[in-house]
Amino acid sequence: MTVLLMAATAMVLALLFFWLSAKSRKRTGIPAGEVFYQDLVGQPFAARDLRSLKLGISGRPDCLIRTVDGIVPVELKNSNRPPARGEVYPNHMIQNLAYCALVEEQLGERVPYGLAIYAGQQVRRVEFTDSSRRWLMHTIAAVQAARLARRADRNHDRRGRCSGCGVRDKCDQALR
Ligand code: SF4
Repeated sequence: MTVLLMAATAMVLALLFFWLSAKSRKRTGIPAGEVFYQDLVGQPFAARDLRSLKLGISGRPDCLIRTVDGIVPVELKNSNRPPARGEVYPNHMIQNLAYCALVEEQLGERVPYGLAIYAGQQVRRVEFTDSSRRWLMHTIAAVQAARLARRADRNHDRRGRCSGCGVRDKCDQALR
């Protein structure tokens, strides 16, 4: 593990403990409930890969909370430029919806919505509705088709995103 990765993990751990304290829960809007899963080093709860052969996806949410409405997956984002007006970036939305679907299928419990938390801000909800399920299925199908074709076209015009991309050197669609 690189020093950078260790530092990032420690930072996420510190942020999660801060966010999950009762006081900050109220301030940030994290719902009341039992935290029974955390994907963090040294945490006391079991975190395992959630994998769906039916959907062809897998992943590990940062945290799962059992609320009165059902299980809520929580994702912590370090982005220092979160989207305006309480929105969630589309890639974070899809990730959150994928966790909602995985939790629903693997744990067999109701999942009403997921939460994204951008550093130091209020929670942002990603509703797990029929239309968001359809969007998730459509996106999974598109990703699988791109994998088979071994090609995916760029779907944005954000130079900043390309400049920090880990595969920029190998990408023939990077914005200069
Ligand atoms: S460099 Fe290529 S893969 Fe990376 S964000 Fe830009 S277009 Fe996407």
